[in-house]
Amino acid sequence: MSMNEFSLLIDLHRHQQRQGPGGVEETRRAISLTGLKPHKDLNMLDIGCGTGGQTLTLAESLDGHITAVDLFPEFLEELEARAGKAGLTNRISTLTASMDNLPFEKEVFDLIWSEGAIYLMGFEEGLKTWSRFLKPGGILAVSDIAWLTEKRPAELEEYWAKECPGVDTLDAKQGALVRQDYNPLGHFVLPEKCWIDHYYKPLQEHYDAFLDRQGHSQAARQLVEQDQQEYEMYLKYKKYYSYGFFVAKKM
Ligand code: SAH
Repeated sequence: MSMNEFSLLIDLHRHQQRQGPGGVEETRRAISLTGLKPHKDLNMLDIGCGTGGQTLTLAESLDGHITAVDLFPEFLEELEARAGKAGLTNRISTLTASMDNLPFEKEVFDLIWSEGAIYLMGFEEGLKTWSRFLKPGGILAVSDIAWLTEKRPAELEEYWAKECPGVDTLDAKQGALVRQDYNPLGHFVLPEKCWIDHYYKPLQEHYDAFLDRQGHSQAARQLVEQDQQEYEMYLKYKKYYSYGFFVAKKM
């Protein structure tokens, strides 16, 4: 991706509550699967945190400190502003870093969280790379795109093979967890509202302002078209895919 494409993506997404499908209720549901309780001083890491949708929910639900990591400082600035408004500034620190080159010591975190971001490294590669930062018995919670059915229409498979080659069945993702020495604690599938109401619709409402800021450049219009195509794919084929939310313990 070129610098211009990155800056367009940032400008389109930085004003959003979330940069991928998800929701407060679903983050809470995954927190309950971890078995972790409030009133414990946890050291937590949120990878690919974006503007911090799930980071704030984590900070409100569990005690301890969260390091929120993203590649783009523009997103982290938004996260800091939101944390400030929620009175959570002293519970969260932000760090600009790449998920495949994280600057932490071995076995320091009780909990690693990552919503809608592990696909950027590949699911299994992410599980493997991040495991070293978890304490033994530490918990990993990740959401990632997954097939819900054994068979899919060719048009859909071709689309995702191009956009995000790591789509696989829920069972295959569970298999990767076990291969990477995690003990699965539970998983569930994100409901439609996480895609439509929490992600695509707010993004759509923002297109006009985005295009105005970008002077309706060709690259900006192209980005909006790509997003709309993704939304149409979702509406047409949503029974075949969603995000799985996986919670597991490092053995
Ligand atoms: N967790 C957020 C954002 C998901 S979108 C949510 O669910 O709303 C994926 C996020 O990963 C974006 O914020 C993007 O900026 C970030 N990202 C992309 N490449 C990255 C990398 N190499 N390292 C860390 N974060 C990255």
